[in-house]
Amino acid sequence: MKLTHSLIIFVQVLVLTCASPALAKSPQKPIIQSILDDTYQKFKHEESGKNADYIPALAKVDSTYFGLAVATPHGEIYTKGDVNQPFSIQSISKVFTLALAMEQKGPQIIVDKIGVNATGLAFNSVTAIELNKARSVNPLVNAGAIATVSLLDGKNEQSKWSVLSAWYDNFANRKLSVLEDVYESESETNGHNRAIAELLSSYNRFYGDVDINLAVYTRQCSVAVTTKDLAVMASVLANNGVHPLTDKRLMSSENVSRVLAVMTTAGLYENSGQWAYQVGLPAKSGVGGGIIAVSPGRFAVAVFSPRLDGAGNSVRAQQAINFIAEKLHANIF
Ligand code: GLU
Repeated sequence: MKLTHSLIIFVQVLVLTCASPALAKSPQKPIIQSILDDTYQKFKHEESGKNADYIPALAKVDSTYFGLAVATPHGEIYTKGDVNQPFSIQSISKVFTLALAMEQKGPQIIVDKIGVNATGLAFNSVTAIELNKARSVNPLVNAGAIATVSLLDGKNEQSKWSVLSAWYDNFANRKLSVLEDVYESESETNGHNRAIAELLSSYNRFYGDVDINLAVYTRQCSVAVTTKDLAVMASVLANNGVHPLTDKRLMSSENVSRVLAVMTTAGLYENSGQWAYQVGLPAKSGVGGGIIAVSPGRFAVAVFSPRLDGAGNSVRAQQAINFIAEKLHANIF
């Protein structure tokens, strides 16, 4: 009886490994690399969408960039295309700022002071603040994200920024810099975000000085990353909070689950439901053209392509990640 049971398990493992060779560690290398190569070929001529232009510096970025990177919990990194080209992280930063706020203050504060529901509305929606009694609703849309910065420890802009930037560096496993032209450009044109912060403040849903926290938020969005950096940063989430390259725990595993949950509800803004339905991976986009997606325990993928759809999500990065996720049978649902 026992022997039959063991035999069944052995056969099941064998079947699973053969049916999904991308799951097994050793054959993963050629498979993931060839999937990235195929993805690049398939989408290299895709030209739909257009660069964000409400931040003038983003309109100037070469729209043809296309970078693909996958990082695994084993520390393996696979790349294709323009993976070393720096670009601004934009809203993908919100994921890591949320992680820091949770680590500093505990996860409940996000529920109590920000919210974790989807808005179903645009990333910078003021209507969402007016429609919801709780005002800010989610840390991955602008209102909740700027308010999350206001929760972070630090008395002034410099002290907040030094902790936050060092936190990002830990995820990237290198010192990141700020694209000063993007920072200047966004600072000169971020009246809308200022209005959001002031409005939240008027509803007592902002937890510090508007100028200071808006400046830190704008700076975090202007951090320069490469596609490869983003895959490495996201691989910490894929590895349950431990950095695959340093073996250091950066986040508790409970907080990783919560961050991934919020990425699922709002990572692609008003298209998050459609994304979950189609792709089935927690993800986060940025108007700089990057998107990260996480397959817990298996891999993190990052794609950079600056042309966006109407919701502010990179068109080609969505297509590429969808294709990669299908090839790797990664839908978590
Ligand atoms: N810095 C951008 C803003 O606040 C981020 C938006 C995004 O990447 O979706 O408008």
